[in-house]
Amino acid sequence: MTQAQAARVPRIVVVGAGFAGLACVRRLERRLGPREARIMLVDPTSHSLYLPLLPQVASGVLGATSVATPLARLLKRTVRVPGGALGVDLAARTLYVKKITGEDEALRYDYLVLSPGSVTRTFDIPGLAEHARGMKTLKQALSLRDHVIAQLELAASAGTAEEKRRRCSFLVVGGGYAGTETCACLLELTKTAARKIPGLHPDMIRWTLADLADKLMPELGDELGTKAQHMLINRGVDFRLGTSVASVSDGEVKLTDGSVLPTETLVWTAGVAASPLVRGLGESVRGRVVVGADLRLPAWEGVFALGDCAAVPDLAKQREGVENAVCPPTAQHAMRQGKVAADNVVAAMQGRPPRDYYHKDLGLVVDLGGPRAVAKPLGIPLSGVPAQIATRGYHVMAMPSMRSRLRVTGNWISHGVAGDDLLRVDLGVDRPRTIAGYEYTDIYPDPEHIASIIEGLESDRREQL
Ligand SMILES: Cc1cc2nc3c(=O)[nH]c(=O)nc-3n(C[C@H](O)[C@H](O)[C@H](O)COP(=O)(O)OP(=O)(O)OC[C@H]3O[C@@H](n4cnc5c(N)ncnc54)[C@H](O)[C@@H]3O)c2cc1C
Repeated sequence: MTQAQAARVPRIVVVGAGFAGLACVRRLERRLGPREARIMLVDPTSHSLYLPLLPQVASGVLGATSVATPLARLLKRTVRVPGGALGVDLAARTLYVKKITGEDEALRYDYLVLSPGSVTRTFDIPGLAEHARGMKTLKQALSLRDHVIAQLELAASAGTAEEKRRRCSFLVVGGGYAGTETCACLLELTKTAARKIPGLHPDMIRWTLADLADKLMPELGDELGTKAQHMLINRGVDFRLGTSVASVSDGEVKLTDGSVLPTETLVWTAGVAASPLVRGLGESVRGRVVVGADLRLPAWEGVFALGDCAAVPDLAKQREGVENAVCPPTAQHAMRQGKVAADNVVAAMQGRPPRDYYHKDLGLVVDLGGPRAVAKPLGIPLSGVPAQIATRGYHVMAMPSMRSRLRVTGNWISHGVAGDDLLRVDLGVDRPRTIAGYEYTDIYPDPEHIASIIEGLESDRREQL
């Protein structure tokens, strides 16, 4: 296609190559020919990350390349813009993008699909921003692994019993699937490592899991939730339910129950907040921008939002009588919403009415380390080995390509046979190792200034012409 032809076809810009964005772009590629639309995908990374398996990357069961599928393998003709979208001027139909080189760009669109996901939700707790580690990005998982292995190595050669105890104590805050799986998988890693590292013993390892709620993963239901908790208690996890963090300082975390935990490791997974990109774009429910069941942003023609960043009506739950229910932030919903968004972009282009998003939850699967797991596929409660088979089977089938399925299966087999090599590579030293440092939550300009930034970029461009 020549440049002049390309300029005439409608431009669809998708932000975010996660579960929602990738599903959307792949469907658009299938449904539209190159002469019907120019599809652009904005994401700072070159891969689509399978987040539910991040705890297994942190614990060394899987390698980074198994959970990060390169976009170049998944997409055929979508033009990728390597950068982050930092703001939208809805009136001017323009997206403000900062490329990975630091250059600013104003990207015009005819249709815009916003799927930048979510970021770790933090609170104004003294010391949290400086000391807590998140579990939302590949770098965070790899860096947490490095940190945990380093603590064990330092503990083995520690000069005092107090230092040994502190370095062998780990705290996870957040009893959802991210926190529970991270705690379970890293518990497995640390116990195994303590057996291998001279100077350590598995009995020295202490894991604490805290959550403000009074039960673990309420979505599992009472029976399965209690089973999951018992499996972890039997492995030595100290549960502090109804408890959160009061303050954090070097080598110490104070909990809201008044106790003090000497530790060098605080993993913070206490919930997610919508990406700052959707701030100010319309009405919101707990930070997620409100869209219709057809995923359209009310009042803005051709703009869609979906996945973790959007409050999408959960029609299945609403039909069961749950008033104003919105879809939970899960991969299951994000992936399916991506396909509906693509269909609705095509419908808008062809002047047809959009369709509503409807999906009945298929249940959930939780890896508790080694052969332990709990799962509730289609409402059937499973635990132990059958649950682990269901969990792994579900993840393999949900991976975006045959290559990633083979990689993940190969990694599971090699880890099962050869174990962990406890390699520490000290990744991610380019940014402060804080949640904001890894999730770039501190780079979004004030929404009120987006229009003037875009106007500045446009006038620079006009001057250059
Ligand atoms: C550890 C962990 C375990 C989980 N386990 C499960 C599970 O077992 N089952 C389940 O259903 N869900 C699980 N989830 C939740 C699930 O991963 C999310 O709900 C899902 O990823 C949301 O999809 P999304 O497409 O909205 O966002 P994401 O998948 O997070 O994708 C967002 C994409 O947008 C990009 N992006 C971000 N900001 C910008 C920007 N400004 N400009 C351009 N691009 C941007 C990111 O690089 C990323 O590629 C888990 C999450 C975590 C963290």
